[in-house]
Amino acid sequence: MRATSIFFLEYSQLQSTTAICPSLFNAATAQDGILSRIRLPAGLITSKQCEVLLGVVNRFGNGEIQITNRANLQIRTSQALIEEVLLDFQDYGLASSTESTDGLRNMMASPSAGIDAQAKINTIPLVKAWNFYLLQHPELTILSNKFSICFDGGEAIRVSDRPNDICLVAVEINDQIYFDLHLGLGDRGDSPASVNVLISQNQVLEVLAALTEFYREYTQQKLEQKTHSRSRPPRLRELLHDWGVDRYLQVIEKYKFRGEIPPSHPCKGGRINQHLGIHPQKQSGLFYIGVVIPLGRLTSQQLAGLANLAKHYGGGALRLTPWQNLLITDIAEADLEQVTQEILNLGLYILDHHPYAAIAACSGYKGCKSAFTDTQADAKAIASHLEKCMQLDYPINLHFSGCDKSCAQHHASDIALVGKDSESYRIYVGDYVGDGEISFGRELYAEYAAHELPQLMERLLNIYQSQRQNPEQSFREFVNQCNLQELREVISHA
Ligand code: SF4
Repeated sequence: MRATSIFFLEYSQLQSTTAICPSLFNAATAQDGILSRIRLPAGLITSKQCEVLLGVVNRFGNGEIQITNRANLQIRTSQALIEEVLLDFQDYGLASSTESTDGLRNMMASPSAGIDAQAKINTIPLVKAWNFYLLQHPELTILSNKFSICFDGGEAIRVSDRPNDICLVAVEINDQIYFDLHLGLGDRGDSPASVNVLISQNQVLEVLAALTEFYREYTQQKLEQKTHSRSRPPRLRELLHDWGVDRYLQVIEKYKFRGEIPPSHPCKGGRINQHLGIHPQKQSGLFYIGVVIPLGRLTSQQLAGLANLAKHYGGGALRLTPWQNLLITDIAEADLEQVTQEILNLGLYILDHHPYAAIAACSGYKGCKSAFTDTQADAKAIASHLEKCMQLDYPINLHFSGCDKSCAQHHASDIALVGKDSESYRIYVGDYVGDGEISFGRELYAEYAAHELPQLMERLLNIYQSQRQNPEQSFREFVNQCNLQELREVISHA
């Protein structure tokens, strides 16, 4: 069944190009092609949807599919997607039924929602219900297309620390599940913070609807007053700073549950990339495998191979992660060895301390006008050098950013490499301890030549692995204790 006539009326404006938050109907032009983003609620994509997508990538694209840090997909094509493609995408649930709502499906859940024994609740039904609500409310399309909702069901793979405007975090009180409301109050990239409001699970959608409608009214007012800068819709955090959190929360006063919010549990084990590798599911006898996707980029053959594995050995779907990797779920124990081998045969990895698991990079100057450096190529050079010359034995996180905006990763990293000019990077390590605007970490080098980075990383990581206090001391803990001048000297003599 094809889409409604409303949709056909809108085709005259389809695939206009813009530099802001590309969607399927509003692609962005980059140096390396026309960039379209496919929003996938909770990062779920079925094997059949992969097949449809691959047909388009192979026909119009550059043979590559990219996972974003919001667990969506991006493709680059040489020309704007044609009507036939968009209609197919609609038929298979890869695009909204109308252009206007396509940019609004930005919602996140833990990649292990519904399969994690530690979780308090399966949030996938909530994601689907909220997605359905958004698609029924085209009046919400005036909102910033960065408006983002997150559901954290208390899984071992937490997502409550991901930057989102609204995050609902499951908590248990007297054997009942409630949601602790978190709002993105801080700066860009900060985790949402609890506002000490509990919501019962059967009122979550009403609460989200009320909060969203209030935000819509604020947006409309600002746009009508034309007081907002650059004529773009305001972000939710601007409402919170402008009108205050208390005023915003008044709109949900009647839904508030009076109770004491239990302390939130920390991430299991505190290790990064804990979703990678083989893990048991709460469903007895079934396992999921977290697959390392180098720099979040898959070839069409790799995606086809993974979709095939999900179809033949798993639950028929892939789960994309906000860390730009993916999970194949529902694999029987007897098939684990075979599936693992086939993943390796595709040129992918499952080890959480593989060099490619360590690195996140933004699109760099080939995909973004703000970039000083070719972050993708420089990140690849480091990963392939480390792969050949050393064995990492603890997961670490290197983050390449072409400029200060830090698109690929908003949270702090172990090592941050930030483009300075076309040939060099600023390098930061560990936790930032000052109060300036740039908070990548402590500055190890103000300028370092891009072509010398692989050798530098090898030396730095070897120093960490040979001088740390014990095998469980993370790179972050190690480097936070270091005197950086002394560390530079050790590196220069390594
Ligand atoms: S971090 Fe800067 S260079 Fe990289 S994609 Fe974002 S805006 Fe572009």
